[in-house]
Amino acid sequence: MASRNRKRIGNTAAVGGDVPGDVSKKTTSRSRQAIKIEFEPDVNNEEKPDLMSLKDGIEVPMIKSETGDGDTQTEGPTQVLKSEDATASGSTDAATTPAKNKRSKREPLKVEPPSNWQKVLENIKIMRSTKTAAVDTMGCERTADLTVDPKIQRFQTLVSLMLSSQTKDQVTYAAMERLKARGLTVQSMLDVDEKELGDLLNPVSFYKRKSIYIKKAAKMLRDSYADDIPATVEDLMSLPGVGPKMAYICMNAAWNENVGIGVDTHVHRIANRLKWTGVKGTNDPEKTREALESWMPKELWQETNILLVGFGQEICRPVGPKCDTCLNKDICPSSTAKTKKPKKLKA
Ligand code: SF4
Repeated sequence: MASRNRKRIGNTAAVGGDVPGDVSKKTTSRSRQAIKIEFEPDVNNEEKPDLMSLKDGIEVPMIKSETGDGDTQTEGPTQVLKSEDATASGSTDAATTPAKNKRSKREPLKVEPPSNWQKVLENIKIMRSTKTAAVDTMGCERTADLTVDPKIQRFQTLVSLMLSSQTKDQVTYAAMERLKARGLTVQSMLDVDEKELGDLLNPVSFYKRKSIYIKKAAKMLRDSYADDIPATVEDLMSLPGVGPKMAYICMNAAWNENVGIGVDTHVHRIANRLKWTGVKGTNDPEKTREALESWMPKELWQETNILLVGFGQEICRPVGPKCDTCLNKDICPSSTAKTKKPKKLKA
């Protein structure tokens, strides 16, 4: 029963950090119309918001600095969202209604395949073979109760993804354990008091807002999807609090459908460090997804998220990447190891 359910629910997706990467890749543009988004910091939460925040169904890029191991700090309570990012991610409506997410009409970004990508990927697979990263045991595909109906498993995976935004895997996993202990179904989320749900989620980042999203999503799933979750990226993104990254990972983890690469903060950062997104790089995760999908064989898409998330958690970290021990240190364009000058010996 369990193995059958495991197969049905999916096999390779993951979450980790969930926001775009390098601090050097700023997300604002003076040339584009800026949309001001009021940001609601959660003073009770130790987790700091990252380059994306949630705003009624969209993941909002934020100006921030990374402080190590994926932790981040924002630079203020009010953030600026590029109009293009808003379009790509969904509605810019800051009201409480679910976002009407519309996909970008522009041509997807295309880049040439990096010359040494097979070797780089092979090295990453070797480094990831120990499967000791947090995502390997506490990623979103590990959080569903495999003894329950697959439909409920898919809902639990979706909830796990909704909680994972700007939250460490360990914190999301613990919250999911509390939710499952109480009972985590569409109906139970409809029944639970918002305050009680928030208390169960705390210390997940933005737990109050996420508790609102989960209850709204549960209502939509009951009314429109017979208590199941949507089976397309577009429909998943119509749920409050669900952006493209979550939708692609959810298609993989919950439906075992290979429709796109889930690009979170680690995937975005590492892809840019490796120049897998082109020489100029990308400044938002949707463009990173497009760039990667333009040259990477489709059969590799499903494993890319969990591979790079774990690599980013352990070695190619946001701050202080362990280039000295990285197998790619001599072929990575961003390696700090090969640029170190030898120490001068004292006479
Ligand atoms: S050499 Fe450094 S920057 Fe390049 S992939 Fe390895 S850890 Fe990341």
